Amino acid sequence: MRDRVDLRRTDYLARSLDGRGYGFYKRLLDIVFEYDGVIARFTRVQGDPYAPPSWFEAVLPGDFHGMETGGFPWKHTLPLTDYLYRKLYQAARRYSGKCGTGNGCFIGVPAPAPVVIPRSGVEINGGRVVLRIQVGLPAYGRRINGSLLRDLLSRRLRGLIEEFRGFNRHISSVERHITTWLDYMHIRRYIVENNYVSFIADGSILPRESSLSHKPMPNAVPFKAPMDHSHVFDLPSGRRVRGLLITDKLTIITGGGYHGKSTLLASIQEGVYPHIPGDGRELVATHPGTIMVFAEDGRLVNCVDIYGLIRNLPSQSDTHCFTTMNASGSTSMAAGISEALEMGATTLLVDEDTSATNLLFKDRVMAGLLSYDPIKTMAQVIRSFMEKTGVNMVLINSASSAFLAKTDKVILMKNYLPQSIAIDQDRIEQLYTGIEEEYTPPTGRIYMGVHGLEKTKIHGFKIVFKYVRGGGFELEASRNPRVVEEGQARYIASVIKWLNRRIDGGLRVSGIIGIIDQAFKREGFKAFTDKVPPTHSWIMGMDVVWVINRLYNTAFKKA
Ligand code: ADP
Ligand code: MG
Repeated sequence: MRDRVDLRRTDYLARSLDGRGYGFYKRLLDIVFEYDGVIARFTRVQGDPYAPPSWFEAVLPGDFHGMETGGFPWKHTLPLTDYLYRKLYQAARRYSGKCGTGNGCFIGVPAPAPVVIPRSGVEINGGRVVLRIQVGLPAYGRRINGSLLRDLLSRRLRGLIEEFRGFNRHISSVERHITTWLDYMHIRRYIVENNYVSFIADGSILPRESSLSHKPMPNAVPFKAPMDHSHVFDLPSGRRVRGLLITDKLTIITGGGYHGKSTLLASIQEGVYPHIPGDGRELVATHPGTIMVFAEDGRLVNCVDIYGLIRNLPSQSDTHCFTTMNASGSTSMAAGISEALEMGATTLLVDEDTSATNLLFKDRVMAGLLSYDPIKTMAQVIRSFMEKTGVNMVLINSASSAFLAKTDKVILMKNYLPQSIAIDQDRIEQLYTGIEEEYTPPTGRIYMGVHGLEKTKIHGFKIVFKYVRGGGFELEASRNPRVVEEGQARYIASVIKWLNRRIDGGLRVSGIIGIIDQAFKREGFKAFTDKVPPTHSWIMGMDVVWVINRLYNTAFKKA
């Protein structure tokens, strides 16, 4: 039987713990806090004041939050929980503080990016709202400080919970949040059903105020689709919206430097997520299987089949199972492309700014000079590549005309606006005849797990993997442009550990993604950990595999 304590009257509890060693905080695990129908408990208690904060969970019943259950918002749990999480994040910042030693009095959840995704900090369970929060338990030195504890429980945490009383007063902004999401989902469903690439609505604000900020750039030029590439949607909200619909297998974005090409491509990538009202990209919707590939010199590559683009390396390595601790620009990008295909990506995004240009194209003169070159460029194989893989591609390309003859979908960016452009394809085609090559799609791999993984730690977006034999490996998860908030890095680390426990004889890499996504669909965040932490944000299984592909001490073999 757990002890029950009124969250408004915690003096006795605080006094009984005051002055004791920090380890006595474990006693909180046996206590249920309650008042006005709210039930709360600590689900994990930190071992010392400097350890990662404890986990606090509060369940708010219908009479407390006051939102009529079963109505419009409850039918759309995802945007509703997203809205509530943003309120939780803001409230936690107001009630958080610093007291005593270590992380005492800290209250928080990871910052949300402006995207609507599931987060473990807020879940809806029947008509109840479950809040999960990180809480730093206060101490002086290594001794419990009773009066700070009482203040933390009765004032700070209760104050935070009170923010959710009578939440019905926010109902009109909740509904706007949901309607925006429904409009996005309507467009995205259409894109997925047709295996198209992306839609960017007229009036969208694509650039951010800085590279460190998610906020829209003030006074930016709003997006406007050119006449001949536009499409109109009638949205569930009753709005009618026009914009650029990208449907082709191969789309080239060209244009002068600093005219908004990379910003457009980054927005297409971000469009895999629904955005919140006010973001500027609410009606940018992209097929969720869209992933950017780029050069990552120095990355680790593990038995990836890059033979389709690179063969006969001077090192004699077998490029059907290419392994290195230190890839070059071109081999790293070739690996990224093969891995994306293995993951079942539907669209690849390529920006020449971040590519190994020698993997993208070479002109006829160079092709003659470098006849021994191990690289077959993307431009040389593009026709066969598209045919054999069935993948879509959006490519920013202004340094070479090599791709222009391969598609009639060319978008010219000028003063931040897309325009159509007429291309003399026959003339360009002549420049490149005779250098086309066949592409061989990669064969898949079996993943055998991470060896000797002891634990993981998260610092911001950085995942630190610690190994039993000593040593660590750091990976900045946000190098994957689909990772937009810290909670996703935490989720990825947990899922990798979970996979390791159920790997058995090995798993086909292409199958892992489905295993992860189905486990989440079935059980939510609790699929991967014994207790649900407050800090996880959902991301697709393919982004977990993205990290595994770059991870130290993993084993893969050819399928
Ligand atoms: P490119 O890739 O063509 O060189 P970028 O996309 O990097 O160009 O954009 C160049 C600069 O212009 C960036 O600082 C970006 O934030 C800004 N920018 C992009 N789009 C717009 C826009 N629609 N309105 C105003 N500024 C923009
Ligand atoms: Mg650029």
